[in-house]
Amino acid sequence: MSGASSSDKTSGPWVDINLGAVAANYATLRAGAPNAEMAAVVKCNAYGLGLAPIAKTLAGLNCKTFFVAYPEEGAELRDVLKPLNADAAIYVFNGPLPQTMALFQSAKLTPVLNSLEQAKTWAAQCDGAPAALHIDTGMNRLGAPLSEVDAIAALSGLNINLVMSHLACATDPAHPKNDEQCKLFAAIAKDFPHARASLSASGGALMDARFHFDLIRPGIALYGGSPFDVDEPRLKPVAVLRAPVVQIRNIAPGETVGYNASFKATAPTRLATVALGYGDGMPTSGSGSAQAVIAGGRARVAGRISMDLISLDVTDHKNPIKTGDIATFFGEEISLFEAAKSCNTSAYELLTGLGGRVDRRYL
Ligand SMILES: *Cc1c(COP(=O)(O)O)cnc(C)c1O
Repeated sequence: MSGASSSDKTSGPWVDINLGAVAANYATLRAGAPNAEMAAVVKCNAYGLGLAPIAKTLAGLNCKTFFVAYPEEGAELRDVLKPLNADAAIYVFNGPLPQTMALFQSAKLTPVLNSLEQAKTWAAQCDGAPAALHIDTGMNRLGAPLSEVDAIAALSGLNINLVMSHLACATDPAHPKNDEQCKLFAAIAKDFPHARASLSASGGALMDARFHFDLIRPGIALYGGSPFDVDEPRLKPVAVLRAPVVQIRNIAPGETVGYNASFKATAPTRLATVALGYGDGMPTSGSGSAQAVIAGGRARVAGRISMDLISLDVTDHKNPIKTGDIATFFGEEISLFEAAKSCNTSAYELLTGLGGRVDRRYL
């Protein structure tokens, strides 16, 4: 049975967010990389779970280094952290642009420099403030190409306190590219003896010590999502997505359900219509395949997921189901990993896609 009952007063979907599980995952990651500093990635509203409550929880665990993607996120985080740890380091992955330099300075953000051009922009105006340098070791996304590294190292006025790179294939720990990137990064990091080195997000953090360097920077694992192509039992679920039944109906063989009539009943069918849709972040790609747990049993989505509604096929349920009962889509019996698979997406996309209408409830 789900932990929620129909007495929970709500008309729409919500996500229970277990901050104790964030703390447990933090401890697990930390224990797995005892010689590295444990930083936290809180970009994209802490993966959809709420920047302020998550960052406060992490600061309370003595996390002192945070990563976001955009400087605006960093400025918001600075305000959140100010009363807790005014000296927390906030790194911004996407680095500075001429038009964001002022924000970096006013919010005391540390940029991650991703090119010679960005390094020049920063060096000209930073006044000795520290920066990180992201060196691309094979992902070919963001980060300075190897051909620019010498020129960046030779710039005067730069104070590089962290060199980092990013693994392209950490979803599969056995992928040979992990080893290649690790060796290449170790060699380049030696050129920056005064900077700390960081290679690993969640995947590398849960791999062996060669990948840990001086600092690990996990995101998804803190929030209970496996960074791998398989579920990760070392992590505790953090987010539980729930929504109430708004209507029960019975249809006859031959009748159809929802837009495009993509589900057709072949036998007498009982449906529970639930207040959750793609507008709340339940992807349309889960149509016909995603499942929920309701009244002690599993039910599959019947037909197309709509903006605000999902139909569950509850024909085979042993227990009676009534309006107001709560369906749980992930986080308990159905792991975030399983839910993401059934929607042909990732844990990252499911969490960051949770809509603004989904009430965040902190436990
Ligand atoms: C998002 C991000 C991370 C965190 O990744 P997870 O897989 O969520 O742990 C770390 N490093 C970089 C460069 C990122 O963009």
